[in-house]
Amino acid sequence: MQFVDEVVLEVRAGKGGDGCVAFRREKFLPLGGPSGGDGGKGGDVVFHAHERLTTLLDLHYRRKLKAKNGENGRGKDQYGAAGKDIVQQVPVGTQVYDDETGALIADLDEHDMKIVVAAGGQGGRGNIRFATPYDRAPRRADDGKPGEVRRLRLELKLVADVGLVGFPNVGKSTLIAAVSRAQPKIADYPFTTLVPNLGVASFPDGHGFVIADIPGIIEGAAEGAGLGLRFLRHAERSRVLVHVLSADPDPERDPVSDYDTLMEELRSFSPELAERPMMVALSKSDLPEVRDVADEVTAQLAERGVDAVHVFSAVTRDGLDDLMVAIRRFLTAHPREDAPPEPELPSAEDRPHGDAKGFLEEPPTED
Ligand code: GDP
Ligand code: MG
Repeated sequence: MQFVDEVVLEVRAGKGGDGCVAFRREKFLPLGGPSGGDGGKGGDVVFHAHERLTTLLDLHYRRKLKAKNGENGRGKDQYGAAGKDIVQQVPVGTQVYDDETGALIADLDEHDMKIVVAAGGQGGRGNIRFATPYDRAPRRADDGKPGEVRRLRLELKLVADVGLVGFPNVGKSTLIAAVSRAQPKIADYPFTTLVPNLGVASFPDGHGFVIADIPGIIEGAAEGAGLGLRFLRHAERSRVLVHVLSADPDPERDPVSDYDTLMEELRSFSPELAERPMMVALSKSDLPEVRDVADEVTAQLAERGVDAVHVFSAVTRDGLDDLMVAIRRFLTAHPREDAPPEPELPSAEDRPHGDAKGFLEEPPTED
């Protein structure tokens, strides 16, 4: 399931330090030879592809990246230090375009790939460099060269890590919206291609995952086989599925029979998909009719091999952070093929408590 995510930003490499004009001054040597050192090279702006990242969100809030200037050269043969590079991590799959010409500059399609997107200016030569047998006291030094400045457009094709499946009206879209609202930053995140049923859940430590509502097979089945195939294409790339259930006022349905029906549909559309790692969540726990059945649903699904039912309410946010932490753990347990291991979750003691902004406010219940 792919979505395009885009950001435009300016990158400025550091200017090279100026070369220095200086002369040795020592006792008995009124005018010594030249001693002005070279300026240091300006820092580069570097992009570093990392599997850990899933979005360009960081860059959206940093519209400019600027590397440090090189230091000027100084007297006594001292060279200026090179300016520090700025190394920005970007998700694997980021394509970098020159925003003015539209030319593709780089395609960071492999983990750990590094490219210089704006090169630092060379440092200027100090007057040491200009001494010749004919001019032993040169007064000339070069200025450092300016660093490259570019406007870049970054594009990333997002792949949903987590696909939500479930009957219509169980609260899939509401869950995505609630997760996205949990970090106010996300709410105004401008996806180029606006996909309403897509969210980026992010954690205070910078990790995140992309969660998407998969057009339901149940809806599809009612309208003919074509939609089933579309569903498959969408679901294909999600690493894990979260099956969302809820208690519905319809007396013909209950969460357990919904579960059975959906799994049956899933198996008939694609046995492979039915085998995809799947978590089960029970939504709308703010409603008494949901709370009343939660234990019974958990017990009955346990008989079908479901080891946990995550009960939550997108409205009161009850259980929501725990669900997000559980999904994150589940993703860690089911990494993308070829991906390097994801970092461990911080232990309970390291987690930020009382920080109203993010998930992980409370230690997850499962340990
Ligand atoms: P979807 O079809 O699975 O995407 O379901 P929606 O997210 O569109 O939700 C269907 C209905 O359930 C809407 O009227 C929502 O307001 C309502 N709903 C969703 N989540 C909750 C919840 O946590 N509590 C309550 N009480 N209602 C919810
Ligand atoms: Mg929906």
